[in-house]
Amino acid sequence: MSSSLNGTSAFNNTVKKCEVTIQEPSSAYALATILRCRVGSLPMKYLGMPLGTPFKTASVWNPILERMEKKLSSWKRLYLSKGGRLTLVKSTLSCLPTYYLSLFVIPVAVADRLEQIQRNFLWGTSEECFKYSLVAWEKVCFPLETGGLGIRKLVHFNKALLGKWLWRFGREETRLWRRVIAYKYGEGQGGWTTNLCRRAHGCVVGDGTRILFWHDKWVGDYSLKRLYPQLYVCSNDKEACISDVVCYQEDGNVRIWNLRFHRDFHERELEDAYSSLECIQPRIPRGGGSDTSHWCLKGNGKFDTRSYYNTIRGAVVSIFPWKGVWKAKIPKRVAFFVWTAVHGQILTLDNLMLRGRILVNWCCMCHRNEETVDHLLLHCPIAHSLWVYMFQIFGTQWVMPGSVESLVYCWSFWLGKFNSDIWNMVPGCLKWIVWTERNRRSFEDTEKSLVQLQALCQKTLFDWARCWGFSDCSTILEFISSLSIAH
Ligand SMILES: [Zn+2]
Repeated sequence: MSSSLNGTSAFNNTVKKCEVTIQEPSSAYALATILRCRVGSLPMKYLGMPLGTPFKTASVWNPILERMEKKLSSWKRLYLSKGGRLTLVKSTLSCLPTYYLSLFVIPVAVADRLEQIQRNFLWGTSEECFKYSLVAWEKVCFPLETGGLGIRKLVHFNKALLGKWLWRFGREETRLWRRVIAYKYGEGQGGWTTNLCRRAHGCVVGDGTRILFWHDKWVGDYSLKRLYPQLYVCSNDKEACISDVVCYQEDGNVRIWNLRFHRDFHERELEDAYSSLECIQPRIPRGGGSDTSHWCLKGNGKFDTRSYYNTIRGAVVSIFPWKGVWKAKIPKRVAFFVWTAVHGQILTLDNLMLRGRILVNWCCMCHRNEETVDHLLLHCPIAHSLWVYMFQIFGTQWVMPGSVESLVYCWSFWLGKFNSDIWNMVPGCLKWIVWTERNRRSFEDTEKSLVQLQALCQKTLFDWARCWGFSDCSTILEFISSLSIAH
């Protein structure tokens, strides 16, 4: 049968919904009649996957690109905030290629194109409309805890998903897919990997028949060959499995190591010999069950894509006040705005000038200072008055920190774990109101007075608190007086 799987025509078995290629079209039609199926041709789709196309070609990914474009065209008609866009990118766009990513190696050009689609959608860029990408995509792809939005890098995610097959190869000895691969490429000693393998797995010793004593990692992160190279050179059993170098004592009950070396040790080698014995003595196989692989990145020893992805991605050394941004119960679009502001990247005049716009930097709120993120949201007299007003409502004193980032760091849960629900909303609420007022003054040439802004702060906070069930007050006045910590 295998020799006939290279023809140009194919059957579609209508009962089993599968198609089989054969060499001669004439016999294909005869067989099709007997089997009551139709003749198809390559390339074709099987279980949603392209069949008969070289798996490395970029065209394999065309259906994914088409589906993404289709999704986008239906979303384009909707008005979506940044928060809504983020939700759609995470829930839909980045999940579309997952099935393909778990089977094929993604070409770099395709990964770049898919990420470009995600990036443009997130920031609202399209053919008709240019929008700035406010934060670098590399940062956007960090986890939330380190200042990103938790969107996955496709190339790394692809590696992590494909890693599952490497893991399964060592554990699913009887499965058909594994037998096909082992037949085609051969398998390494112990059957953990195919013949060509670049890295070793960690493993747990059962009966010791699949684990190589010197080469596999079964005593920790390194093989014994690497830990004790001098002893390895002298060993008579360089390729032995663990079970080959274990024997029973004369009484037949106690297992002991039976390592053989082709010469006596020199004095300088004795220390290594004792140390190796100390290392392996407690690990002598008890003979229970078979050897199995062990995933060191998880406590339960089982493979999972997330831990592998995080390792491939590498540790991101970056501290970010993520709880203050994402744990506060504020609308998603406001949280997204605060996230951008903490990165110092909202489009204030100084940032626009850094992007090449020729402007006069003048704060439209106070007409006194240059407009920077920290000035506009914290230190501008109008913003400052709103902050002071808010502290009065809560009946507290507060020294304003220098930057938006520092403020978010020290703000959240300052009133304690149980009293902070509404308090945690305040920075998002105030910054959002100052920002919308700034945009109103810049683009619509209208403005609200300080008293109106204070009332807006009260109302917004009241609405959000009621929405999340943090307050059952029926009037704003009642709500505001309930906030004071003096009660
Ligand atoms: Zn100002």
